[in-house]
Amino acid sequence: MAENRVSTPYTKHLVLFSPPFQGHINPMVQLAHILHSRGFFITIVHTDYNAPHLEPRPGLTIEPIYLGLSNEEAREMDIVELILTLNKKCELPFRALIEDLQSKKGGLRVSYLITDAVMYFTQDLAEELGIKRMAFRTSSSTSTLGFQAIRDKGYLDNRGHPSDEPIPDFSPFRFKDLPFVNTKDPDSLCLFISSFTGKSFRASALIFNTSDCLESPALEKIRPQCRGPVFAVGPLNFPSSSSILPEDDKCISWLNTQPPRSVVYTSFGSLASMESSQVMEIAWGLANSGRPFLWVVRPGLINVLNAACLPSGFTEQVGLRGLVVEWAPQKKVLAHGAVGAFWSHCGWNSTLESICAGVPVACWPQFSDQRVNARLICHVWRVGAEMGREVERGEVEMVVRRLLVEREGEEMREKASELKKVVQRSLGKGGSSYEALDSLILQLMSC
Ligand code: UDP
Repeated sequence: MAENRVSTPYTKHLVLFSPPFQGHINPMVQLAHILHSRGFFITIVHTDYNAPHLEPRPGLTIEPIYLGLSNEEAREMDIVELILTLNKKCELPFRALIEDLQSKKGGLRVSYLITDAVMYFTQDLAEELGIKRMAFRTSSSTSTLGFQAIRDKGYLDNRGHPSDEPIPDFSPFRFKDLPFVNTKDPDSLCLFISSFTGKSFRASALIFNTSDCLESPALEKIRPQCRGPVFAVGPLNFPSSSSILPEDDKCISWLNTQPPRSVVYTSFGSLASMESSQVMEIAWGLANSGRPFLWVVRPGLINVLNAACLPSGFTEQVGLRGLVVEWAPQKKVLAHGAVGAFWSHCGWNSTLESICAGVPVACWPQFSDQRVNARLICHVWRVGAEMGREVERGEVEMVVRRLLVEREGEEMREKASELKKVVQRSLGKGGSSYEALDSLILQLMSC
């Protein structure tokens, strides 16, 4: 693995900052640990809203900033509104923190900001303070092209395009695979897309948590659009913990009691929410499948406050064959030999984690980049099965059987295990991600 090679005395100080979403925090924290292990002094900045549990260590400090944003306020906003609000609310405390770090007597001056691409306010701030900035994009590079397409080609309201028609110049994606963002403010969505793509993107480099071996067609299109280099350093896979919710450790002891490759792990990430009726279909589909399952029902998964989570009679029917938890140690779960399939919303981290574990995926994308990722999984890498938009218990039962019992699932598992090896090679010496990480480090050192 690339991350533990040299250790040097600290000469450079990097500040890393991500928005308060689990799917953005995890890869940023992994990148922070990797750069720390390569000799950089690191400050990780996070917001008090949705704060992750992070452990400082020598040379790696953690700094919270305070926004005064309550869960209730955030819940009222759609995702675009929330991101705009975060950019506004973070500006003053983040600026104060950086100025404080720069003026600290005897402290190491900050040489680079590495900030999430969606925290676009940091670009102006970096320029004003004379600090360089690299942007970190935690979604797939292919979905970046999908976002560009919805901005530039008038595909914005792709809810009206659930069509199987191929998108011109974006093969093999169909209109129904385009990113979908449910917002009252499409103009702001377009502005926000411009902050991480195209001509107005001004960061001195763009880092992607992906690999050329997974997404070279998209990366080849994105590279000429950027002023600086594009570093595809993923999948980042450092053993670090950065959960917002506590992980339930019973998952592993329960998995230890299950036969090899028998369990379907079911999780829809940290943001997706659904109707109680959908949760019912999922519950009975899993119950009726007759296969063991581990299902994450996180607080907030059901979009009606205080709704009853599970149907009555469900727990009694499944007994010890099913385990429902609020939050799982997902990477450890996927790496466990008892897990045979992952029913996922296809968030980019979940997608990469399934690849690193060699586990095939039942794809049920919900919003944003997830539809693009699902198409990559099912059609490009062929390590998963596509599910219909409307969840229905009969289909759940069928897809679980396809992946866990039938020959088709076995074939996908073989492909997934080959893809895992390809990705491992890209992370090893001489591989594209290994080399990209070295180039990134050279650029960070040279400043
Ligand atoms: N995750 C976890 N435990 C869970 C569910 C999710 O640790 O029970 C982690 C998962 O490993 C991934 C992240 O949360 O790193 C979710 O990111 P992803 O991009 O897959 O989806 P998002 O939450 O952004 O929709």
